[in-house]
Amino acid sequence: MARVQLEHVTKRYDDVTAVDDMNLDIDHGEFVTLVGPSGCGKSTTMETISGLTVPTEGTVRIGERDVTNLPPKDRGISMVFQNIALFPHMDVYENISFGLRLRNYEKEEIDKRVDEAAEVVELEGMLDRMPDEMSGGQRQRVAIARAIVRDPDVFLMDEPLANLDAKLRVHMRTQLQRLHRELDTTIIYVTHNQAEAMTMSDRIAVLDTGQLQQIAPPLVCYNEPANLFVATFIGSPSMNTIEGEITNDGFASTYGQVAVEFDPTAFGLTPGQSVTLGVRPEDVYVTTLVDDLAHPTAPVPTRSDVLEPMGDEIFVYLVTEDIAEGGSMEEGSDPGEILMSVDPDSDVQEDQEMDVILDRSKLHLFDEDGEAITHGLVEAPAAASGPAGTEVEGDD
Ligand code: ADP
Repeated sequence: MARVQLEHVTKRYDDVTAVDDMNLDIDHGEFVTLVGPSGCGKSTTMETISGLTVPTEGTVRIGERDVTNLPPKDRGISMVFQNIALFPHMDVYENISFGLRLRNYEKEEIDKRVDEAAEVVELEGMLDRMPDEMSGGQRQRVAIARAIVRDPDVFLMDEPLANLDAKLRVHMRTQLQRLHRELDTTIIYVTHNQAEAMTMSDRIAVLDTGQLQQIAPPLVCYNEPANLFVATFIGSPSMNTIEGEITNDGFASTYGQVAVEFDPTAFGLTPGQSVTLGVRPEDVYVTTLVDDLAHPTAPVPTRSDVLEPMGDEIFVYLVTEDIAEGGSMEEGSDPGEILMSVDPDSDVQEDQEMDVILDRSKLHLFDEDGEAITHGLVEAPAAASGPAGTEVEGDD
C-alpha cells in the first residue's frame, strides 16, 4: 500500500482542459472515490495516476516516488476497468495468473497467489471454468483477482461495476469493501454512481469541469458541502435550492414565501446580497405532521403538486402558494418548487394546501459564487451581544 499524491496536475487536450490544477493527497490504505458528472475529468485524473497519460503540468507521486513520467508497469499499480477483458480461450486460473506467468514467476508462487486471490473474491472451485461459462459478476471478480495477484501498492478501478445489473452492483459493492479491508490496500475508484461513492469510500473527491470541488468523507460532503455544485450533486434526489437575498432580518426568497430569520452580520452578510438557501427533501416537514422540531423556520404556505410514493418514503413536489395562484412568479422564471420527503404512511394528497417548515439546523446558505457560507442557520447571536467571529465557514 502506498500514498498517492497529485500536485498541481493539469492535462490539456488542445483547447480542452480535462484536468485543471488538481491537488490530491491520498493516504496509505485509503479508499478514495473520484466522482462527478460525465466529462468532469475522472478518467483523465486516473490515467495520470496509472501512467496511461502524462500530465501537461504537475507531478504524480506514488509512495514517495515521482512517477509522473514512468510507464504503468513501473508504478506498482493494478487496474480494473469497466470493460472486462478476459482471454476467452483461457480458463479462470490462466486468466488470473496471466501477468505472473508473463513475468516468469515460479509455479508454486503463482498457485499460492491465485488461490489466495480466488478466496478473496470467492471464486474457489471455479478455477477451471471458461469465461463464457460465467456470469458478468463472476467475470468481474476474475478481473479483480487478476489485479490482486500482482500485489500492487495501489488499485485503480475505473467504473468496474458499470456493466453489471443493479442487484449485482450492490452485491459487488460489499465485496469491494471487504476486499479493501482484507488487502489493506490503497484503492482509487472512479464512478459517476454516487451511491457507490457514498457507500464504499473513506473519502470522496467531487470533480466538476476538471476541478476538484471538495475531498472529504462522504457524510461531510453530504452534510457540509463546500459549494452549490457538491450540494446538488451529492444526494438523491437533489438538495432544494431557493434563490433569494439577505434582508435586515435574515433570508427572503425571491419567489414564494420562504423566510429565515437570523442576524446577517453574524455571517458577515449585508442586506441586498444575493444568496441561495439549500435544504434537503428530508429536512422539510408538514407542520401538522411534526411537533418536535427543535429549530423550525416560519411556516411556508404551499400546495402539493405531484406525489411519488417510493415504498420507504413519499416524495412530495410542493409549490409555494402565491406561485400556485400565479402570484409573484415572473414569466419564464424558476417556479421554485420544493421537494419534500415524508413517511410512507403520512396522510398527504395531491393538490392539498399545507404549511411546511424547514429544519433550521439543516439549512445551507451559499453566496453568489455558490460557495458555502454556513451549514445550519440556528438562531445566530445578534452582533451586539455575540462575540465576533461566530460565523461558520464552509468545509474546505
Ligand atoms: P470523465 O471520466 O469524468 O467522464 P474524462 O476524463 O474522460 O471525463 O474527460 C474529461 C474531458 O477531457 C472531456 O471533455 C473529454 O472530452 C476530454 N478528453 C478526454 N480524453 C481526451 C482525449 N484523448 N483527447 C481529447 N479530449 C479528451
